[in-house]
Amino acid sequence: MHINAPEPALRARRLGRAHYFPEVTDAEWNDWRWQFRQRITTLEALARHLEIPPEEWQDRAESLRDFRMGITPYYLSLIDKDDPNDPIMRQVVPLAEENLFRAIGEEDPLGEEQFSPVPGITHRYPDRVLMVVSNNCAIYCRYCTRKRTMYEGATPDVELDRMVDYIARTPAVRDVVVSGGDPLNYSNAKLEQILSKLRAIPHLEIIRIGSRVPVALPQRIDDELCAMLAKYHPVWVNVHFNHPRELTPEAALACDRLSRAGIPLNNQAVLLKGVNDSAATIKSLCQGLMRMRIRPYYLYQCDPVRGAEHFRTTIAKGLEIMEGLRGHTSGLAIPTYVVDAPGGGGKVPVAPQYLLHYEREKGRAVLRNFQGNLYEYFEPSQGTDELHPVPPPSGGRLRSSADPKAAAKKPAKRRISGKIGSAPVDENGSINAAANGASNGSDASGEVEPVVGKSRWVHRGPSTRSSVAAQTTNGNGHAKP
Ligand SMILES: *Cc1c(COP(=O)(O)O)cnc(C)c1O
Ligand code: SF4
Repeated sequence: MHINAPEPALRARRLGRAHYFPEVTDAEWNDWRWQFRQRITTLEALARHLEIPPEEWQDRAESLRDFRMGITPYYLSLIDKDDPNDPIMRQVVPLAEENLFRAIGEEDPLGEEQFSPVPGITHRYPDRVLMVVSNNCAIYCRYCTRKRTMYEGATPDVELDRMVDYIARTPAVRDVVVSGGDPLNYSNAKLEQILSKLRAIPHLEIIRIGSRVPVALPQRIDDELCAMLAKYHPVWVNVHFNHPRELTPEAALACDRLSRAGIPLNNQAVLLKGVNDSAATIKSLCQGLMRMRIRPYYLYQCDPVRGAEHFRTTIAKGLEIMEGLRGHTSGLAIPTYVVDAPGGGGKVPVAPQYLLHYEREKGRAVLRNFQGNLYEYFEPSQGTDELHPVPPPSGGRLRSSADPKAAAKKPAKRRISGKIGSAPVDENGSINAAANGASNGSDASGEVEPVVGKSRWVHRGPSTRSSVAAQTTNGNGHAKP
């Protein structure tokens, strides 16, 4: 198997294990139980590995009262201890900001409790539910939306049974997202108990597992686990890589095992200030995921959960990152950027505007490509399906049977009238006026002069179009009855 090595600049930093755990044997290091037991959960233990400025000790200790810490030795080994802003460190180490801004944010920013028919289930969408099966994780991410559910002790079996029972008596549910806390923290036997009960529900089509274990404790993904998961297909796994430096050979091996068990892998990243809030970082992450055969699925705006204010970015930043992906790298490497609407509104996709101008009645659109060039595009004539081909330049046999005059006309060509900035959102974060009018073209006012695309197919111009529309429709130009 080809496991992609990290980029050379990153490789230098990955001497971590030798630095942090020189005494640990390979057998211990590769044993996920050892990794799990040796997790760093207190500031004192953390201070043995990373420097904690004395003046921050108090605030960091306070943060831990709100939300526990857990860092596997493996994940710790990815941290560059000499970088006070290390992006891996920021994800799992409580910082003073967490406490300083703790008044901002909510316990349950997505209103998950509000859409909860039984404890642990969130039924927000018609055909799928979220099932929170556990209250612990391999590592605790400081920005976790669900930190309110993370407490000591296991989820009681009776609660799990009640969740399964809800799905069993709700035929609309064809997809379950088994998440947590991390479902892969369970033993294989316990996890299998849950999966087998779910699989016994006839109307449940797919089982999705949301897990950060491949990122934080990749040793856990062994052949035994994969063979067990494969018994309950179709099983999908959503992983959660946020930074290219998390794409290690160990993580690649874990993901390869899951893939070989027939499990499609999708990544859900969270956009985090000081961690991955640049187009270059997200592009490198997404390209690295592709090399590991993981499809970038979502890029989430960080939720306004308490203690995560210092991680939050603007939507303009998210759009800028998405602009930096489309056209600049494989379409397959581009996730959907989503903002989870407060109070349970659900995931709202937010995308840069490439349709700058759209006049529905004239069937005319102005499109922008990834380089900022503008293109004029005509829709098929309203009220008629007639096409008007022109002869190919070679003088081929293509002829219009309907309108020889139109067929003889050369495609109209206009000069490039300029580029616009690459982002529809300007430096101040306000939406470009042209972009704004695009979705309801009939009242779009600003005329945008485009480049004309090099199509050989000519549509009737706007004037012909409206006269045809008048003949074939109700007379006021609308094709609707
Ligand atoms: C994210 C989420 C899902 C799954 O949404 P998809 O867009 O299908 O991935 C389902 N239920 C809840 C409550 C969610 O938050
Ligand atoms: S792994 Fe997921 S559920 Fe667990 S703390 Fe991190 S973000 Fe939250």
